[in-house]
Amino acid sequence: MATTEHDFYVLLGVERTATDAQIKRAFRKLAQQWHPDVNTDPAAQERFKEINEAYQVLSDPERRSRYDTFGRAGVDGGAAGGAGFEGFGGFSDIFDAFFGGNAGAASARRGRPQPGADLRYDLRITFEEAVKGIDKEIEFTVLQRCETCIGSGAKAGTDPIVCPQCNGRGEVRSVRQTMLGQMVNVSACPSCHGEGRIIVTSCDTCKGDGRTERKRTLRVTIPAGIDEGHQIRLSNEGEVGPRSGPPGSLYVAIHVQPHATLTRDGTELFYDASISIVQAALGTRITVPTVDGEEEVEIKAGTQPNTEIRLRGKGVPHLRRSGQRGDLHVMVDVVVPTKLSKKARELLAAYAEEAGESVAHGGGGLLEKLGLG
Ligand code: ZN
Repeated sequence: MATTEHDFYVLLGVERTATDAQIKRAFRKLAQQWHPDVNTDPAAQERFKEINEAYQVLSDPERRSRYDTFGRAGVDGGAAGGAGFEGFGGFSDIFDAFFGGNAGAASARRGRPQPGADLRYDLRITFEEAVKGIDKEIEFTVLQRCETCIGSGAKAGTDPIVCPQCNGRGEVRSVRQTMLGQMVNVSACPSCHGEGRIIVTSCDTCKGDGRTERKRTLRVTIPAGIDEGHQIRLSNEGEVGPRSGPPGSLYVAIHVQPHATLTRDGTELFYDASISIVQAALGTRITVPTVDGEEEVEIKAGTQPNTEIRLRGKGVPHLRRSGQRGDLHVMVDVVVPTKLSKKARELLAAYAEEAGESVAHGGGGLLEKLGLG
């Protein structure tokens, strides 16, 4: 359901592995561009609202992890949902807030190896598996630490040298004057890509990358109640970064096969049942498929069209409230027969007479009389 244009990471233009400092930096940059105080474009306010919402979630570790696992469903409706925008002061407040904390954050980022990429694995499960939960084994190819050089990328017996361009800091700084004051731009050193070290003689196995591609098997626990489009985040199971950089995350994207007769909306299940007018009038028992097997359901005498029968607790378990489960709604439709045998027509005519109802004479229309009914 979540489209990519509303993906919080896309909105902020950062990777899923982005650090808190990177997220903050991206937001500050976008705020300078879209804050309604500086951008008079009528669309700017709406855009800034979205950017701010994304930042409110991604800057909070707990809400970010919920978003990573469940998407927007995991963070929507929270107290901080849309209130952030109103809570902000003017543009200068935001700007000051970010500039104050920035110098410290930048100097902490020194000679750090690049993190590995996130991986996405598309996992197809059945309708029943989504409702009940299941453990699944998945196999995928991933860049892991090179065993020859233990991830350093350097040939055995050699060591990486300190990067001469940044002196091992891993970053280069430039100062710019802007209409908003002095702006310090900190970026990764282009020579060592922020690592602070340079490999002189590369490992033969991985050619200096510190990684090799290998097959990996992983057991994934799919919680009961998971739904189409949900993602399960497994931190540190993505690719490792070059030269022992920290690993990214593995996102298992869930795809649920539809059920032959049941439909689902969140924790609620729906089943369409058809009964005849006679069954509706006299009552009957019908068989309803549930995720726990078939179930007999009583249709009371005198049941009206569009009656809903609710089977409590036969729906989908609530993903975050354990022990709670939705209902199965049996939607009963009463069907009027379109073709009747001669005998059936006579019986219905007799019923009409008994009930004092007037019906079409002779029990049939023109088509029946011509033998075309
Ligand atoms: Zn190697």
